[in-house]
Amino acid sequence: KENNTKETNVAKIKVVVRKRPLNKKEISRKEDDIVTVYDNAYLAVHEPKLKVDLTAYVEKHEFCFDAVLDEHVTNDEVYRVTVEPIIPTIFQRTKATCFAYGQTGSGKTFTMQPLPLRAAEDLVRYLHQPVYRNQRFKLWLSYFEIYGGKLFDLLSDRKKLCMREDGRQQVCIVGLQEFEVSDVQIVKEYIERGNAARSTGSTGANEESSRSHAILQLAVKKHTEVKESKRNTDGNESRSGKVVGKISFIDLAGSERGADTTDNDRQTRIEGAEINKSLLALKECIRALDNDQIHIPFRGSKLTEVLRDSFVGNSRTVMISCISPNAGSCEHTLNTLRYADRVK
Ligand code: ADP
Ligand code: MG
Repeated sequence: KENNTKETNVAKIKVVVRKRPLNKKEISRKEDDIVTVYDNAYLAVHEPKLKVDLTAYVEKHEFCFDAVLDEHVTNDEVYRVTVEPIIPTIFQRTKATCFAYGQTGSGKTFTMQPLPLRAAEDLVRYLHQPVYRNQRFKLWLSYFEIYGGKLFDLLSDRKKLCMREDGRQQVCIVGLQEFEVSDVQIVKEYIERGNAARSTGSTGANEESSRSHAILQLAVKKHTEVKESKRNTDGNESRSGKVVGKISFIDLAGSERGADTTDNDRQTRIEGAEINKSLLALKECIRALDNDQIHIPFRGSKLTEVLRDSFVGNSRTVMISCISPNAGSCEHTLNTLRYADRVK
């Protein structure tokens, strides 16, 4: 009973900021660290500025969030603050989403990568508990990418996917491969395989993957006996299971990419516009959720449409805003914090 109360008390929306340490390059350039974290919930950005007569001064911007994690915080601690409290709610029909938002190089992927693995570890442990063991619950994993407004399956040779709605607010991504995962080692292998398939293009991995949203989903499904004929021919029997709850981990495109709308390259402009649209739509959806609005503007972008079923009903959202501490990133850092502030 006591556990139940605790579980339902998990905040519907949580906004967490994570500051990464200065990197070697920034240190060698003698860049200042302009972000100060206080009390695990407050931070200040000291923006270097110049007056018209070129005298230097500092403008201080202060923010407050559900949690602010400084450069000494480990990934384990990030997990404990963000995802761990949500895990029990997955078994109570919750659709949870965890986003990493921020400019390229701010630590989104570094922060996001270990989370699904830790979550899978905990989910598998729950599945083995006596209460759940007899309920035919199984854990399923899928991993895909949204790039230029199109969906690609990262676990089946970047197969192009499309979306369908079944009229009961259930989003179905046609052809998306789901894999049953019974232990953490298998989860690890799928994640590595998916990572290797992320958009790389000719310009190098980080450059291109910064223009895509990567979405990894772990779903707990309840299985009923099905006739052999009802199963998919490819051996994927996931449709025979009913989703109990799920958690999606989303490594968002670099927030600065949304500003690529004036780039000389046409493709880059199109992708920039799509990213801009999706990050704005995401903000609007989370705000609508927070206000308990009945109408959630999920149609604003591919990203929010895909996440539609996670924005209705029993949902939990964690936004991890990643920021770089160096003076040179000040403008992007302030943009990220203002975005996070609007979501909160
Ligand atoms: P993004 O995905 O936002 O573009 P990355 O996660 O790739 O950024 O991080 C950029 C670099 O900074 C990587 O080399 C990463 O290992 C390092 N990094 C990011 N966050 C941290 C952190 N909290 N502690 C140590 N290194 C970090
Ligand atoms: Mg990244």
